[in-house]
Amino acid sequence: MTSYQRIVLAARPRGEVKASDFRLETVAAPELADGQVLVRNDYLSLDPYMRGRMSEAKSYAAPQALNETMIGGTVGQVVASRHPKFAVGDAVVGVLGWAEMAVSDGTMLRKVDTSRVPLSAYLGAVGMPGMAAWYGLNQIMHPKAGETVVVTAASGAVGSVVGQLAKLRGCRVVGVAGGPQKCAYVADELGFDACIDYQAGNVAADLAAATPHGIDAIFENVGGPIFDAALPRTNAFGRVALCGLIAGYNGADMSIKNFRFLLTSRLTLRGFIVTEHMEYWPQGLSELGLLVAGGKLRYRETIASGLAAAPGAFIGLLQGKNFGKQLVKLG
Ligand code: NDP
Repeated sequence: MTSYQRIVLAARPRGEVKASDFRLETVAAPELADGQVLVRNDYLSLDPYMRGRMSEAKSYAAPQALNETMIGGTVGQVVASRHPKFAVGDAVVGVLGWAEMAVSDGTMLRKVDTSRVPLSAYLGAVGMPGMAAWYGLNQIMHPKAGETVVVTAASGAVGSVVGQLAKLRGCRVVGVAGGPQKCAYVADELGFDACIDYQAGNVAADLAAATPHGIDAIFENVGGPIFDAALPRTNAFGRVALCGLIAGYNGADMSIKNFRFLLTSRLTLRGFIVTEHMEYWPQGLSELGLLVAGGKLRYRETIASGLAAAPGAFIGLLQGKNFGKQLVKLG
């Protein structure tokens, strides 16, 4: 192959992301130097954090550069190698961005075993989203059997894992998701005890009905009015793992009225960025991989086809159009 396609960030969005914020380009295939591998990407991961990187606002990570390949997790195959640790044919997970292929010096590139876990799962339940679920649950929420746990964006890549891990701990688990179809999946297929459809417009009353003994721990992915509605239900010494605030990523008002429950319920709230806790990844990924391989951790994927479909699929992710982990299949 003498050339390949990639998608670059063409403009920084204001408010809603638009297709014109991206540009599809054809570029010359690179020559390999010593210590490098050439990877053909099979799947791209689309993740909400990418919206933050598209902005120049102060954050925990540097902004995505304009006119450079969009950042992102990838899985694929090594197609050429001058690196001692990688051979042609190796299945690898990396952060190679929105491109058909990429050269890597091996940094943040990891060989994976696809004999019992499908390749794409390394971008979801057995990848960064699964680790976010694992970390928030084990290091912040510490749920005990019999406690009530609430998970927002419950049908998604992170939320679906959190809820199932909490069920394995013997908790009562209540999800919050958008629409009856997602809620049916969360309750019937993932085994949550209940799921509230926030689009039905009665979040506070529905949460009260689903949490008769209050809420002991929240895994927060959304923020805004949904988080606000959960705060008055919290029990004394409740824990909040603040993972994401997707309701605000396109600029919506995220003010909360029920802040005082942080005090009156003596809550511990901790925000976290899972890539800052790499020391837990070997243990977490090993546990998650065993659960997926054993059929004890279920997941769902929405797969867009072809590199050119990535911008539209990403815009859809921020609007809740994905159902489970959003991927793009290449090739
Ligand atoms: P999902 O697969 O859950 O997809 C995003 C979902 O968010 C949508 O499907 C939609 O579900 C929901 N959503 C979107 N907009 C809104 C809105 N305005 N109000 C309510 N819900 C909305 O994504 P992930 O599982 O990958 O990520 C979930 C969260 O976790 C995000 O906030 C993300 O930024 C965060 N995250 C944080 C990490 C960390 O290290 N802190 C690591 C990974 C993810 P629905 O239709 O149900 O509303």
